[in-house]
Amino acid sequence: MISLHEKVLEGIYDEFERWADESLACKKGCATCCTQNVIITAVEGERIHRHVRENGKEEWFAAALQQKAATKKPRLTTNGFAESCLRGEDVSPESYGSSQPCPFLDGDCCSIYDARPFSCRCFVSTQTCSPGVPALIGEKYLSASTAVMQMIEHLGQGEFIGNMLDVLLALCGVSENRKYLALLPASMSDQGLANVVKARPLPGFLLLEEEMETVGPLLHAIFAHEVEGRSIEDILNNR
Ligand code: SF4
Ligand code: SF4
Repeated sequence: MISLHEKVLEGIYDEFERWADESLACKKGCATCCTQNVIITAVEGERIHRHVRENGKEEWFAAALQQKAATKKPRLTTNGFAESCLRGEDVSPESYGSSQPCPFLDGDCCSIYDARPFSCRCFVSTQTCSPGVPALIGEKYLSASTAVMQMIEHLGQGEFIGNMLDVLLALCGVSENRKYLALLPASMSDQGLANVVKARPLPGFLLLEEEMETVGPLLHAIFAHEVEGRSIEDILNNR
């Protein structure tokens, strides 16, 4: 069964896709950007786990999780970072994992493409990347990705947030995923649990007035998107 939060997440992904330019170089099968440095929330992790279960790929998934490189517990989440900035503190964004290739790659294709998290969806380039050619990310995407990630974190406040592989390992302990008890060393889900932190509520967006011109329409479309007869704005505000 798909939870309300997962349906909200799908609404956010759909609105982001509608808003994004069609002139992007990104496409399925393009993978230079696919590293282990990806942040997700628990609801995004649950969506990935459900995708794996529905496709009967648990053994492949357990083997992929065991390719995890060293990760870090986030010092600040996206909303934690926003809180510090809004208080006027001098903070810098951090990375959450290694630049090793993502273990969900099969050749150059993402094996969980339909369930890939927002961090993978918002990393977009107007030029095709290669080892010597970095992504060219437009300003509007940089502003939008932070604002949307803030909403996704708010949606999952109180739940896990952290490196994608840590969140997925931490979720191996929940009842639908008990199968992993036999497929993974017990220490791995403990490792995941040790490296995740709690998602925080949205303290306010970090958008400048000029950024609101391009990102505002996306935020309005997300807030107005209806899920089970309620707007995402009402759901996020618990109304
Ligand atoms: S960011 Fe670069 S490597 Fe990643 S999908 Fe887009 S063009 Fe391909
Ligand atoms: S989950 Fe998929 S899209 Fe995201 S980094 Fe891994 S292979 Fe790439």
